Amino acid sequence: MENASVLDERKEFILYKQDGCSGNEMKCDANSVSGAVSQRACVYCGARVVLNPITDAFHIVHGPIGCASYTWDIRGSLSSGDDLYRNSFSTDLREPDIIFGGEKRLTAAIEEIAEKYQPKLIFVYATCIVGVIGDDVNAVCKAMSEKYNMRVIPVKSPGFSGNKSVGYKMACNAIMELISKHEPAKRKGVNILGDFNLAGEMWIIKDYLNKTGIPVVSTFTGDSCHDSLIKSSGAELNIVQCAGSSAYLADRMEEEMGIPYIKVSFFGIEDTASSLIRIAEALKDEEAKQKAIEFTSAETGKLQQFLAKYRKNLQGKKAAIYVGGGFKAISLIRQFHSMGMETVVVGTQTGKKDDYEIIESLVNKDTVILDDANPAELEKFMKEKGADILVGGVKERPLAYKLGIAFCDHNHERKHPLCGFDGVVNFTEEINRSVNNPVWRYINAEL
Ligand code: SF4
Repeated sequence: MENASVLDERKEFILYKQDGCSGNEMKCDANSVSGAVSQRACVYCGARVVLNPITDAFHIVHGPIGCASYTWDIRGSLSSGDDLYRNSFSTDLREPDIIFGGEKRLTAAIEEIAEKYQPKLIFVYATCIVGVIGDDVNAVCKAMSEKYNMRVIPVKSPGFSGNKSVGYKMACNAIMELISKHEPAKRKGVNILGDFNLAGEMWIIKDYLNKTGIPVVSTFTGDSCHDSLIKSSGAELNIVQCAGSSAYLADRMEEEMGIPYIKVSFFGIEDTASSLIRIAEALKDEEAKQKAIEFTSAETGKLQQFLAKYRKNLQGKKAAIYVGGGFKAISLIRQFHSMGMETVVVGTQTGKKDDYEIIESLVNKDTVILDDANPAELEKFMKEKGADILVGGVKERPLAYKLGIAFCDHNHERKHPLCGFDGVVNFTEEINRSVNNPVWRYINAEL
């Protein structure tokens, strides 16, 4: 691959789809290349985004104030109860703390919260500088848990200690520490893992499961709380939406609690329908399966007419996708296909080998597939492939606009749900409005 703007060390993370499949020789699931200015977030951020939606938890960021600002209220997770999670608490470490240690400051922060709010659950995130100075965060959390009879769980997540996937793992370990202390009665129903109730999407999934007669025991972590989480080990089955962030938790729950799991996706018609049917099959619930088939067939029928209307506007348009996990990229490729669009660039921050194998099998020849991309690469490949729209997150939006390319936010900040059958309508309308907006003609004439 002769690419002037691609660093030599990055070339093995990039693949041009050839005829057939390459057997997936591209590299992934590794730390970012130093100096490549990865679009990925750090370990702390990975942990924080998984735990943040727990609505009645306190999140203390043990580190300089800048780390706290990184995840303060930027995620569109909605709550049907508490809204404590929308606050961020920081120990605001300064130079003297870095020289003499920050444990006293952490103790004081936990005591202040304990005395003012009597919380059930506090997470303490150890950030880069704490990893460097070596504060004994475990000891402080243990002492505070005992003093105030509450759960204070350390999340060892210095940003430099790996990549965003390591942060996901740290968050899953923290959740296991919380739930493994409880043995609730077994009950019919599923836990939903890897959905964060962005714009209320968890409520849509719950509604679909309700329509098929499948109860939801607990959710990780969208619209969850301490009391709902500790019931989770009583469920029959775990369904995992964002596998990148939550497959490790599902693995641990299977090994240590005997709860099996299946991977699902509620993005797009095809994946939503097959997920609902597969959940009923995994539960061996024939009645639920029949209901799922009837419900999904009716919704699919309605949406085919809807899509037919939009397809003439969208046919032949080219999409670039850069999202967090592989499951979403796979669903988006299928969604664009059903809309008559072609995916020409597709990448993820934390995709695994099996995700990239599926991606490669779904896209056309010469599509560019990237792992852990940076802005220079995204710019180069979107221009080279003539992408009309980029689907990404908050960090990709300015890049698309600066290039005069339409953009759709499919990440933290989105304000309307994009999952399920309801989401297909919102997504199609948004893509149509963005990609066919006359503004691009004027901007591109200027560029
Ligand atoms: S990389 Fe380190 S300093 Fe930066 S936000 Fe992450 S934990 Fe904080």
